[in-house]
Amino acid sequence: MRVLFVSSECYPLAKTGGLADVAGALPLALAPLGVDARVLMPGYPGVRDQLIGTTKVASLPGLFGGDATLVAGTTVAGLQVLLIEAPHLFTRSTGGLYLGPDGTDWPDNHLRFGALSWVGAAIAMGRVGTWAPDLVHLHDWQAGLTAAYLRYDREAARAPGTLLTIHNLAFQGLFPPATRASLLLPSQALDVDGMEYWGQLSFLKAGVQWSDRLSTVSPTYAREILTPNEGMGFDGLLRLRAHELTGIVNGIDDSVWDPANDPHVGTPYTSRKLAAKAANKAALQHELGLEVRAETPLFSVVSRLTTQKGLDLLVAALPRLVATGAQLVVLGTGDPTLEAGFVAASVAHPGQVATVIGFDEALSHRIQAGADAVVMPSRFEPCGLTQLYGLRYGTLPVVARVGGLADTVIDANEAALRDGVATGVQFSPVEADPLAVAIERTVDLFRDRTAWQRTQRRAMSRDVGWDVAAGRYLSLYQEILAHRSR
Ligand code: ADP
Repeated sequence: MRVLFVSSECYPLAKTGGLADVAGALPLALAPLGVDARVLMPGYPGVRDQLIGTTKVASLPGLFGGDATLVAGTTVAGLQVLLIEAPHLFTRSTGGLYLGPDGTDWPDNHLRFGALSWVGAAIAMGRVGTWAPDLVHLHDWQAGLTAAYLRYDREAARAPGTLLTIHNLAFQGLFPPATRASLLLPSQALDVDGMEYWGQLSFLKAGVQWSDRLSTVSPTYAREILTPNEGMGFDGLLRLRAHELTGIVNGIDDSVWDPANDPHVGTPYTSRKLAAKAANKAALQHELGLEVRAETPLFSVVSRLTTQKGLDLLVAALPRLVATGAQLVVLGTGDPTLEAGFVAASVAHPGQVATVIGFDEALSHRIQAGADAVVMPSRFEPCGLTQLYGLRYGTLPVVARVGGLADTVIDANEAALRDGVATGVQFSPVEADPLAVAIERTVDLFRDRTAWQRTQRRAMSRDVGWDVAAGRYLSLYQEILAHRSR
């Protein structure tokens, strides 16, 4: 089976979040299952240089305002990539993938991701290059227009199957209706049963309306987004397609995140040699200026500092965390008020709370290896990766019972502890008080060394790699193709 991924980011080539991890890892996990998956993405600066064996596939003259080229290449890990080299759209000397240097969206984002989607549809229809897919796997709003171009194609009947995966419903690709013509969409695209959304044009809605099947990155998030509270305005549309919406939990790259073999971690350890984790804790406490004490539970946060992640609740619950005698390390950047809140806490509680403002991949590994628990009080969480790293590192996740967090962590309640299936601590509703209670419960569990280590071992034995998810995606692809051939 041939599958074309259409994605605006892909690890390790260009990344802002979990979408990149999926686009970079899932095709590799599908390969042993007989799937020839290739990733179509924008040729941002520096991406081509990370590929080996690059060759020109086709010219794309006059692609949304300039000439472009489609280039094929492979990553060191063996991922097959198709790059759209379009200097007028993707070569910028400053800024990021979506935002300009002033922190606002690039003004031509509709053309940039319209072009990505348009080339995706052209490859899907076999009009560019010699390789054409049986199925197109669209990711998030940036790829949503592929479904529209296929829908309005003069030969739409022979278009391949389509799957849209929603990684985060908060991002909907909304643009003024006047952009329609520049995107080469017919006027009916603006109808309410097209991609019109409250007077705007929504790329995500195109994907939701016209993809054969929809998926999101956990079963609980798949249910949550059908409700007015969590549906972010899309719940009505999604409810119409509820029977065609599936939730599949992401995996993690367990070669990059492996406590037994992690170049960032001073003392490797496994679930059988858990005692070695203590050396990483002592090193981390020392590095961060915390009191070096093995018997003090060390909580951690590695996160974007935003209200989605519920970290204002942790600021509110801090006095109760501090009162237990536990320690906290926070690594993150984002909302200036939250940054200031955690910095103030570390000034007020030296030796007990440490805050590092910034993005630091290596430190995030050392934190996973050295901390006892990782806190994620997210208000919503489509899947979440950090808790999966926590499971793998025996750093027990303390999580809000939402989305992917609900699906991946088993609360250490009485019954789960007795049955030996607990892997962390959950709380609900997502408020400061229940979070504080969860922290206190975690401290109590930590003090029961036998129960704690049993929970750690259980957490570390969970299969959090990509194999399970790859099998589920393959089944979904097969269902889509079987349905189309009927
Ligand atoms: P989201 O994609 O919503 O930010 P996820 O939990 O799915 O949340 O993924 C976040 C990823 O980014 C994880 O790999 C996490 O370790 C990493 N990360 C977040 N903030 C930082 C930071 N300040 N430094 C290093 N890594 C970070």
